[in-house]
Amino acid sequence: MMDRHRAGAILKELQLKTTPKRVEVMRLLAAEPSFLSADDVWQRLKSSFTHIGLPTVYRILDELTGAGVITRIFLPDRKQYYFLCTNQEHHHHFVCESCRRVEDVEQEQCGLDGLAREISRRSGARVTSHILQINGVCGTCLKEGAAV
Ligand SMILES: [Zn+2]
Ligand SMILES: [Zn+2]
Ligand SMILES: [Zn+2]
Repeated sequence: MMDRHRAGAILKELQLKTTPKRVEVMRLLAAEPSFLSADDVWQRLKSSFTHIGLPTVYRILDELTGAGVITRIFLPDRKQYYFLCTNQEHHHHFVCESCRRVEDVEQEQCGLDGLAREISRRSGARVTSHILQINGVCGTCLKEGAAV
């Protein structure tokens, strides 16, 4: 569970103003082992902020995503999903399409560094960043016979 102090410290480090709504969005996303849609976040926020509108929720999610606090999760349904990971190191996520759990991919170093070098070598381009999300069915779901 992310406490308010921790959420505030993260916002401060990113030079974002600490507002009760931003802190609450971070806390509820951090409490989820899965990703949430803007609508899910909205429903959960309503208990603390009765009059909050969906556009405000989208604005907060966009701000936090832009600052790198929140990661966007991509699914075939093309809806927008959000996940908060407290791991600050560069890493990638495995998304289970059955139980919707998001796991950190454990790696000594990013496996795409070689690809970036290859792109530079072949085309002279300079690679600045990449986004990689691995989808599949997690070990637990496979054992339980989940089919996706
Ligand atoms: Zn699963
Ligand atoms: Zn992560
Ligand atoms: Zn990487």
